[in-house]
Amino acid sequence: MAKFQIVKYGDQILRSKTKPVEKITKEIKQLAEDMIETMYAFYGAGLAAPQIGIPLKICVIDVMPDGKRNPVVLINPVIVSGENKINMEEGCLSFPGIYENVPRFDKITVQYLGLNEQIKTLEAKGFLAKAVQHETDHLNGKLFIDYLQPWKRKLVEKEIKRRKKGGDW
Ligand SMILES: [Zn+2]
Repeated sequence: MAKFQIVKYGDQILRSKTKPVEKITKEIKQLAEDMIETMYAFYGAGLAAPQIGIPLKICVIDVMPDGKRNPVVLINPVIVSGENKINMEEGCLSFPGIYENVPRFDKITVQYLGLNEQIKTLEAKGFLAKAVQHETDHLNGKLFIDYLQPWKRKLVEKEIKRRKKGGDW
């Protein structure tokens, strides 16, 4: 059972500014745990706090290398470098059933605060790099459809409107 419901596109929280986490409290640790559980419940590779209605800079990611669970919790993440931009298909739990190609760095370095209150540096490639960029964007009110060409974005918006009308959003 998922701990949280996922906020879908259209909700203002997905565009709001998030606050940095000041201190790793018991509540933050619990939130991270609940977010991981929610991410798995919805078969996502990542989940950012705004997607469950919480405007805090915290996200969880698991791209399941080797098909095994290996979640990472990123607090106050900042991407400090990126190289080799390529187009990759991606989706988002806040956009169920919608997949689009967007440009992302194939290799990145991200700095973040770990649950042990240590500053960590992670170098990521491929799917993991994409997931980190996607989730970090969420913490800055940015969504993957923002990268689409205007005409393509219009098509996506139209599709969502149609699904909203049908009660399927
Ligand atoms: Zn997303």
